[in-house]
Amino acid sequence: MNASTSVLLKLQNTILEMIATGVALIPTCGRLCEEVETLLPGVTCSVLSVDAAGLLHPLAGPSLPEVYSNALDGLGIGPVAGSCGTAAFLGVDVAVTDIETDDRWAEFKHLALPHGLLACWSSPIVNAQGATVGTFAFYYRERRGPTAFERDVVRNSVRLCLIAIDRHQRVVEHERRAFTDALTGLPNRAAFNAALLDLDCNAPGSWAIFVLDLDNLKTVNDTFGHHAGDCLLQIAGDRIAAAMLPGRTYRIGGDEFGMVIDRPDALRNLDRTAESILDALAVSANCGGHVVVPRATIGGAVLSNDDPVVDRVRQNADFALYHAKETGRGGFVRYWPGLGSTMTRRLGAIRDVNAALREHRIEAYYQPIFRLDTREVVGLEALCRMRIGNAVVSAASFHEATTDAHVATALTARMLALVAADLRAWLDMGIPFQHVGINVSSADLSGGAIERVLTSAFEREGVSLEHVILEVTETVYMGDGDQAVQTAIRALRDRGIRVALDDFGTGFASLTHLLTVPVDVIKIDKTFIDHLTPESVSMTIVEGLIRIAERMNIRIVAEGVESEEQAAMLQAAGCVLGQGFLYAPALDRRKITALLLDRAQYATASNATNTAAAARRR
Ligand code: C2E
Ligand code: CA
Repeated sequence: MNASTSVLLKLQNTILEMIATGVALIPTCGRLCEEVETLLPGVTCSVLSVDAAGLLHPLAGPSLPEVYSNALDGLGIGPVAGSCGTAAFLGVDVAVTDIETDDRWAEFKHLALPHGLLACWSSPIVNAQGATVGTFAFYYRERRGPTAFERDVVRNSVRLCLIAIDRHQRVVEHERRAFTDALTGLPNRAAFNAALLDLDCNAPGSWAIFVLDLDNLKTVNDTFGHHAGDCLLQIAGDRIAAAMLPGRTYRIGGDEFGMVIDRPDALRNLDRTAESILDALAVSANCGGHVVVPRATIGGAVLSNDDPVVDRVRQNADFALYHAKETGRGGFVRYWPGLGSTMTRRLGAIRDVNAALREHRIEAYYQPIFRLDTREVVGLEALCRMRIGNAVVSAASFHEATTDAHVATALTARMLALVAADLRAWLDMGIPFQHVGINVSSADLSGGAIERVLTSAFEREGVSLEHVILEVTETVYMGDGDQAVQTAIRALRDRGIRVALDDFGTGFASLTHLLTVPVDVIKIDKTFIDHLTPESVSMTIVEGLIRIAERMNIRIVAEGVESEEQAAMLQAAGCVLGQGFLYAPALDRRKITALLLDRAQYATASNATNTAAAARRR
């Protein structure tokens, strides 16, 4: 081995070792240049990369003036583009021995000559596929071309550069894949986590995290197959990403997308930001031949003073999303302090009710509905109770559980069975019975199974459906934008099942709604009754309501009547029926049976709907 071969081998080993140990591309090329320049005094070395668009970018040139390197950045390759640009373009060595006079440097010589760069010999770095990925060049401070030894050095260096660039591109591609979701092309969960690490936690309010969950992916997968599901994800991904621009959207799970909101205008009104994303999504799309409207729920949380760490904000956004989904709220929910404990309480209530259902500890209590004038019992409301040892807890303490669709429908089914059995017993005892109100929840109505469950429970006991009134709270009655609840109410009434509008006055139902979705009974909420004084606004509203309801053939029940004064005022306003502690709280079966035997009213003209039935029973 002669001396020059051993020098070249040493150089090669140094650079290959750097590549093998994962040193980045730029320092590797820099070191190569330095080693070559030490080997060949008088030579100035340069390595450029060529991007896919055919533009040059400096990788290394430790002895080149910085202004010169910077001037090269972004220049295009071409047939007359200096030594490097031309070599890259043609894919062959270009040796310019006099920059000043060579046509290929005509447009660039003003960049080189002032720095004493008089000649330049450039070699293309061509990969296995034949594409030029870079150039390796020698600048001379005299007008000359390469020597034989320099040719050896360059041949070697070009090979080393190619290995380094190849490896770099593979690393970049690997990273791109590791941070990209293959289906949507969006950055993935790992990219999201990396982006979160870069967030500044020192400025509360300066950013927020959104977590978005596609509501209908599972349905689309189950109904139309996975191809349609994939298509839904792609379309949704595109739409969310477009709505979020210039911010980034990440696909962070099967049907979950994540976003960081840091633009002041987007942060200022988070509800509107979320709404614009949901609006952009909710346009019908063609998913593999099926028309689907992508729907989503978003949970959001802002960096706050309380606990300014990324993980907490992320968790809070998840809490908000979970809350929005579980309570069937949909749309956007923004985290608020206390949401965590609300959720814990709710989950506890769900667990308790499930256990009580399994262990047959759910009982039906009944609160009488009475005539304010005669104090006769005209009907009952069934209220569920949970037995815990010797104690009995009221529905108010676990009502949050009924926001879970599964618990709500199971509870309703149990209550219907208990009420039907009790009704059978009372009818058998000859108690002149009118009706029992049963509270139903949103899930009962939108699920569509209520009629079947009700009918089968009552048929099993041989009790007519005329004895039941389904109580629907005003919030449920108003629904959450879809028509499912209202359609269900109409269908039930068409089948002759009566419906009461519960807690009237607490939500947004107005008399106008009653024209489109009529009900049989309105129960005025206790808060109105609490505020009754002779000249009060409540009084005026109650009076007006009673008069209109009369004309619409709707019966009115005042809820939560606690005092004689209230009863008297209600009577004066024309209200016939009441319910409340003044008369009786909810009572267990034994006590209510005794009360019914004593006080049950035979139907009178005041409740005409029951007259015929009551007459038959008599
Ligand atoms: P609601 O339908 O408005 O029922 C009336 C609630 O007010 C009952 O509480 C009742 O005990 C209470 N109450 C009645 N009169 C008075 C009074 O004069 N003063 C006061 N302070 N309270 C009075 P409860 O039984 O704890 O029920 C709470 C809520 O839970 C009910 O409100 C109802 O929405 C729901 N609920 C009760 N039972 C069921 C059920 O079986 N299924 C479903 N889905 N919900 C139920
Ligand atoms: Ca009720």
